[in-house]
Parts: sequence; C-alpha cells; structure tokens
Amino acid sequence: MKIIFLGPPGAGKGTQAQLICKKYNIPHISTGDILREALKNRTLIGLEAKTYMEKGELVPDDVMNKVVTLRLEEPDCSRGFILDGYPRTKNQAVKLNEGLSRKSIKIDFVFYFETSTEKIIARLSGRRICKNCQAVYHNINMPPKKEGLCDICDGALYQRPDDNEQTIKNRLEVYLAATKPVEEYYQNRRELIRVNGDLQAEELFEILNKIFEDREF
Ligand code: AMP
Repeated sequence: MKIIFLGPPGAGKGTQAQLICKKYNIPHISTGDILREALKNRTLIGLEAKTYMEKGELVPDDVMNKVVTLRLEEPDCSRGFILDGYPRTKNQAVKLNEGLSRKSIKIDFVFYFETSTEKIIARLSGRRICKNCQAVYHNINMPPKKEGLCDICDGALYQRPDDNEQTIKNRLEVYLAATKPVEEYYQNRRELIRVNGDLQAEELFEILNKIFEDREF
C-alpha cells in the first residue's frame, strides 16, 4: 500500500502514519524525521538543512528529491510506504511522479488532512516526541503512561525546537504558500482524498481503515 499524506504540520499525519504503518507493516517515511536524524549525525545533508529547519523554512527541492529517491530504493519500501511531509512543493510532486512512473510504481492513496489553525497550534505546542523511536505523544491529548518516557521503548520524550509558537506560525505560512500548489496538483489528477484532521486520532483511523477496506486493502 503506497500512501502520500499532505497537510500542514500538526494536522495529525504523524499519528495516523504510526497507526497505519503498524497495522500494514510498511515504513513511515517522514522527511522531517530523516532530516532531524541527519542533523543529529552531523551528515552533510543534516548540516545543509539545519538553518532552514530552525527558521521553519523549506529545505531546497534538489536536496529533498535526492533524500526521498534514495529512501524509496531501500528494500523495505517494496511492501509499500507512507510518505509524510513530502512532496511539499509542486517541483517535488512532479519529480516524485516522474521517478515513480519510471519504475511503474503507482501511489494508491493521497490524503489531505484539513485542520483549523487553533487546533494546529494547540497540537504542536503540546507535542512530545521520543528521542529514540520518534513515537509521537501530546502532553494533554495523548500523554505517555510514564511522564517523560516513551510507552514503546522507554526513550526520553522531547519537544522539537521548532514547535514554538513563532516558528509554528512561520511553518504554517510557508506551508500554505508552497504546498497549496501540491494540493492542486493532486486535485487536478483526481487523486486527492480530503479527511478531517480535527477528529480524534481513533476516529480518523477508523475512517481511513474504511477507505482501505473499500479498496480491498
Ligand atoms: P516536519 O517534521 O515535516 O514538520 O519538517 C520539519 C522541517 O524539515 C520543515 O520545517 C522543513 O524545514 C524541513 N522539511 C521536511 N520535509 C521537507 C520537504 N519535503 N521539503 C522541504 N523541507 C522539508
């Protein structure tokens, strides 16, 4: 099952990706996670991405296209994948489509998570992430069983430095400016399925499952 998740930061894409990937045993390819890992390991890509990420701006397309092309060539992607956070510009969408077409790979679902700004700010400012396995929590909506520790691997939870109110607002503006054309690109191809990102995680997961079942996945 090959899926693309579109939608602003804080729309619930990461949480749904976690649930679906577990159920279908496919990798969750979050370009934000890949870049944060690269930054932690001080690789060339990580260092190149650093200044953009700190300001909530987009990392250049050629860097991102290369990162995703390489990731999709890894063997675990043969079963399927969820692309989360990519494509984020029309150029990325076109390049992705060209790369997949060359390999005769078809995307099964493109979901757009519609969410209100208030919800996004509330979600992102309370978001906590496991340093070890990147599982996502929320200090009010989805707290871990033990405070500050991941339920899955006991790793320490942290708050992303770009999850502060000023950077969140910038990321939203950047998102709307750069990613609106991506939404239109898939809309014009009649591939876009809009879902309500304001729903509780379990409720939205049920809706997504229903869509998969209807298509016999
Ligand atoms: P995210 O975890 O998806 O919110 O991404 C965190 C940051 O990584 C973004 O604010 C961008 O600086 C960068 N980033 C992630 N994915 C992309 C992408 N597809 N294109 C450009 N920049 C990206």
